[in-house]
Amino acid sequence: MWSEKYNGIQRWMVRLEKINLEEKSWWSAKDALHSPPDFDSPKTETRTCTTCNKESKLIYKQGWACLNADPADSKLNCEKFFVFDQDTDDKTLEFAPAFLQERTKFELDPGPLVPPIITDQDLVRLGEYGFEERCKKGIVCPECGCCSRRIEWRQWVCENPSCQYLYSLTPHAVSASIAASQGTRKDILLKQEFIKSSIRIRNFSLKGFNVFEYTIPGVNGEDIGFIRHYKSNGDINHLPGGPDDLFQEMQTHNLGLKRNAAKNKGGMFLDLATLQNTNRLVARNEVLTAHYTANWVFLLCPAYVDPELMYQRVLRTSSRSPKNPHHSWRPLMSSSRP
Ligand SMILES: [Zn+2]
Ligand SMILES: [Zn+2]
Repeated sequence: MWSEKYNGIQRWMVRLEKINLEEKSWWSAKDALHSPPDFDSPKTETRTCTTCNKESKLIYKQGWACLNADPADSKLNCEKFFVFDQDTDDKTLEFAPAFLQERTKFELDPGPLVPPIITDQDLVRLGEYGFEERCKKGIVCPECGCCSRRIEWRQWVCENPSCQYLYSLTPHAVSASIAASQGTRKDILLKQEFIKSSIRIRNFSLKGFNVFEYTIPGVNGEDIGFIRHYKSNGDINHLPGGPDDLFQEMQTHNLGLKRNAAKNKGGMFLDLATLQNTNRLVARNEVLTAHYTANWVFLLCPAYVDPELMYQRVLRTSSRSPKNPHHSWRPLMSSSRP
């Protein structure tokens, strides 16, 4: 790694070497000959700067220059940084053959290229639940070698269409009290009320809930419906069948949660047809949403966020459920008011 100047701008440069030189590289041309590595020569010449006394390699064909500099802080640069004996154009510098052909023996065990798949035993050892950040990372399929993302909440599914490999951990349900204690955004959200002046707000208590009702205006200012936000409290949360139980159910039932594309939908594979026709490599990377929660609203709709079902659920937490729950509930897009 060294510093250089290009077009007057200072930047870091990195030279990488392959570790295992005994084997032919997978990217070599099929008919290319493989020659065993020569670790003794060529070797890049190194010279010591008479100003800063630091060594720099002779990297460029155009000659030697001190490379002692820090692109992040030019105050640390040697005064003779990138000063060549002759006039040079930093945009046309070329690397010296010895520098390009130098090889270094790698003595350490590089370890496996494929990271090991996390197991249930790992979860126990680390005291984790199976929902942590690293459990959302992709895996390399042990059967076909395909790199597969964690798309489904419940399991890893190999993304090679001709491979059937599935893998899942045994998740441990997080208790509502632990989840609530870790919710750092809760306080921020409680303070935020986003209300346009055209939306009327009514605040009242209903069966222990602190209810905020937002009346939504239509294009002509008439009421077209309302949204009610039932703000719960600790007493309600702990009731049988209440939010705490709902939270546990959501973790143990298969809700079919998955991450969807946030960007470049479907663009995760190399475009092989373009590669063959034009010799151009095209890879449009599909980017998935970071959180499965972003999809919950849609996926939960049929069963959990349906206003009628949700309201019945809310009523179940109350000791005095009305006989007809519809008397005080109308979903959005209904003009009726309780
Ligand atoms: Zn120097
Ligand atoms: Zn596979």
